[in-house]
Amino acid sequence: EAISLGADTVCLVEHPLLVKPSIDARVAALGQVCRQRSPSVVLVSRTIPGRDIGPRVAFRLGVGMAQDCVEVKLNAVTNRVVATRPVYGGNAMATVTFADADPQVVVLRAGAYDQPERDPSRTGAVVKIDADLDPSVIRVRHIETVRGKSEGVSLENASVVVCGGRGLGGPEPFETLEELASLLGGAVGASRAATDAGWVNHSYQIGLTGTTVTPDLYITVGVSGASQHMAGCSGARHIVAVNRDADANIFKEATYGVVGDWKNVLPSLIETVREFIKS
Ligand code: FAD
Repeated sequence: EAISLGADTVCLVEHPLLVKPSIDARVAALGQVCRQRSPSVVLVSRTIPGRDIGPRVAFRLGVGMAQDCVEVKLNAVTNRVVATRPVYGGNAMATVTFADADPQVVVLRAGAYDQPERDPSRTGAVVKIDADLDPSVIRVRHIETVRGKSEGVSLENASVVVCGGRGLGGPEPFETLEELASLLGGAVGASRAATDAGWVNHSYQIGLTGTTVTPDLYITVGVSGASQHMAGCSGARHIVAVNRDADANIFKEATYGVVGDWKNVLPSLIETVREFIKS
């Protein structure tokens, strides 16, 4: 799979301790792969395990690490990585680079870049790496996996996200957002104000302290567009905002905006989408 997406060489570590989802074992294995292969850059996806694995591997190797990056480049002169990451609650972007030690470990937001076209005709090498993993490396014991109930498309993978905020005034309007999202084959998200109010589960939260989404279309309803919210959706290709306050910050970020009460706007939007799908 990785080769068809552009990799020339895939390092494969197989070990009984890696069968269970143990972060300790993965940290130890990746550390050993880095020692054996001496990469100059290690990119880790900012998933829940990735946020943990990146810094721990960097610490073990005694090298630098940049967490929560949205962009990564190479400086043409120094040939060192230059990474960009949001700071101060998403109010500013910091550009960071690395001292001389390799590897340069970058934890990159999932979805920060588009996946390349899959080319099944590509060929490459699969190199098996022996990892010497002792059970004593596992200090956290995995007891049980409890899967949360989820219906429909997951937020992270949705190409359309409909997000509700405090302006909805309660939990019931989220049913209308569900209707719009399902018409568009998308998922529903929420601002922190809406999840803190208990209108929807915290797993819906988008933003700095919630999920990062990069859909093609991000529709916000009753969301003001605070920087901490935008930190989780600024990678969306198109933002469509519905808000009754023409001065709301969300309109500075939106491709299209409707100034109006969602109670008037949403029904006609849903009707139009329905008509559009029929035709
Ligand atoms: P509000 O800011 O109250 O905006 C509601 C909007 O609805 C207003 O613009 C109003 O004009 C509009 N409105 C009201 N009634 C109607 C109507 N009838 N029709 C149309 N529009 C209407 N927030 C997040 O979302 N995600 C995060 O991850 C996050 N992390 C944070 C981390 C930190 C450290 C801090 C300090 C804050 C964080 N926040 C986060 C909170 C953030 O600062 C905002 O408070 C929050 O995003 C506001 O949510 P909101 O836009 O739904 O509500």
